[in-house]
Amino acid sequence: MFRAPRKSDSTKYYEILGVSKSASPDELKKAYRVAALKNHPDKGGDPEKFKELSQAYDVLNDPEKREIYDQYGEDGLKEGMGAGGSGGHNPFDIFEQFFGGGGFGGGGSRVRRQRKGEDVVQTLKVSLEELYNGTSKKLSLTRSALCSRCHGKGSKSGASGRCYGCQGSGMKVVTRQIAPGMVQRMQLVCPDCRGEGEVISDKDRCPQCKGKKVTPEKKVLDVHVEKGMQHGQKIVFEGQADEAPDTLTGDIILVLQLKEHPKFKRKLDDLYVEHTLSLTEALCGFQFSLTHLDGRQLLIRSNPGEVVKPDQFKAINDEGMPHHQRPFMRGRLYIHFNVEFPGSGALSADQCRSLEKILPPRPSNRLSEMEIDECEETTLHDVKIEEEMRRKKQQQQQEAYDEDDDEPAPHGVQCAQQ
Ligand SMILES: [Zn+2]
Ligand SMILES: [Zn+2]
Repeated sequence: MFRAPRKSDSTKYYEILGVSKSASPDELKKAYRVAALKNHPDKGGDPEKFKELSQAYDVLNDPEKREIYDQYGEDGLKEGMGAGGSGGHNPFDIFEQFFGGGGFGGGGSRVRRQRKGEDVVQTLKVSLEELYNGTSKKLSLTRSALCSRCHGKGSKSGASGRCYGCQGSGMKVVTRQIAPGMVQRMQLVCPDCRGEGEVISDKDRCPQCKGKKVTPEKKVLDVHVEKGMQHGQKIVFEGQADEAPDTLTGDIILVLQLKEHPKFKRKLDDLYVEHTLSLTEALCGFQFSLTHLDGRQLLIRSNPGEVVKPDQFKAINDEGMPHHQRPFMRGRLYIHFNVEFPGSGALSADQCRSLEKILPPRPSNRLSEMEIDECEETTLHDVKIEEEMRRKKQQQQQEAYDEDDDEPAPHGVQCAQQ
């Protein structure tokens, strides 16, 4: 559905940067340079103000975003970003992109690329009760965090010791003469810093992380499992995975894994439960109590005069699973009935005669003595049909497999014409 964006304030960003609405790209750059340097948190500036500046510059510096902003204001930008739009970039990224350096601490002019760190994916086992009622869990884990002592620099002085061998690029160009007048240029990974672009002298090495820049950190995640969540659904903790220098921290992703329930099965928002009735209950009525996933006792009973057949389903409305994010809406609870018949020999001849008086009469196709004499005797055996079917299928597969193993049958054999 398309919603026309409202007309709204589209002057705020210009005011933040202190330029007119008709400012040229050069004017914008100049305004951002002065203001960002003055307000950078490393220089004691206000982080909020710094964020606003970066946000304003990020939008106005992009002709497309600037046009949207001029027409529809901030709301227009938010809508344009679609679902999940986080609403802006890291102000420090914007700053570093602009100045092309590692902030104030580095002093180098090396442009640092922001790599995206890896996501950590982990399964989280949950019971059906937990998905029905919702729950909170604490999950403790150990992750790498930027060293608190050196702030991820790896050195005591805080200077990211630029490698002299490669000028911090991590690569080294080597020239060598391969023949008189012929020179070959080769690019190698810098052997001094092994491609990292930095070296930290033993003296300057941070004692806490031993120059590794990160240290292990215990972390406890508060996991909220919401009512009605599904098996396989993901709970994402953005930017909580392992930290590394110059890296956008990845996410911790928990994938819900439903433990099998001894009684209830779930299909989407519906629940299924099996219940076995005796033949008497199936014919003459039943009642029983069913403990639901939240501990409530449901009274389940047949309607007067009702007969339940084997394999029949009945449903109770609004006693299924709560719908995720709309937990007041619930699916249905289905009951699948089995009927247990009395075993062989349970009824005497007298009892059968009494039953025959109550139950519908047998079909009137009784055989006469003479007709019986003309038939052949047979014996009925008990079978476990599912087991037999399975065995027969296995046998078939084994035979097919054995045939594959044999020499291939010669093709194109002509049938002898008669
Ligand atoms: Zn350290
Ligand atoms: Zn190097």
